[in-house]
Amino acid sequence: MFKIGFGTDLHLLRPGTGLRLGGVDIPCEYGAVAHSDGDVLLHALIDALLGAAGLGDIGEHFPEHAITEDTDSVLLLEEAYRLVREAGVTLGNVDCVIDMEVVRLSKWKPAIRARVAALLAIPERMVNVKAKTAEGVGAVGEGRAMSAQVALLATMD
Ligand code: MG
Repeated sequence: MFKIGFGTDLHLLRPGTGLRLGGVDIPCEYGAVAHSDGDVLLHALIDALLGAAGLGDIGEHFPEHAITEDTDSVLLLEEAYRLVREAGVTLGNVDCVIDMEVVRLSKWKPAIRARVAALLAIPERMVNVKAKTAEGVGAVGEGRAMSAQVALLATMD
């Protein structure tokens, strides 16, 4: 049985020393406003995985009160992925979009792709990472926020 998963996330930006996206540290003049490390891509990926498995959303599994600014989203992903695999889901491909106006992500895309593939234990050719800007419009375009969307295809026992 084929299963589609889809997830989105958004975090506000603040002045800072770096962002973490897809488990990769991106040195820059911004930080994420977040209860965790603010990894907007991994949060969207977690929701996509949970969606494919019919397991709800990230807030149900990792409530804000249980997460601190030091929380590594990689650990949340590993736990969510474990639950999803226990539910009988096998991943196909993962397609990621990051919306960011104020930090150019093009040079980071290969590292993010490699990291996401490694975290999911799937070949890099099954992962795609896109980075988009927002034409100066809205919270992303004005540099107040970043967002991510992830779609994936899986099979379920
Ligand atoms: Mg988030």
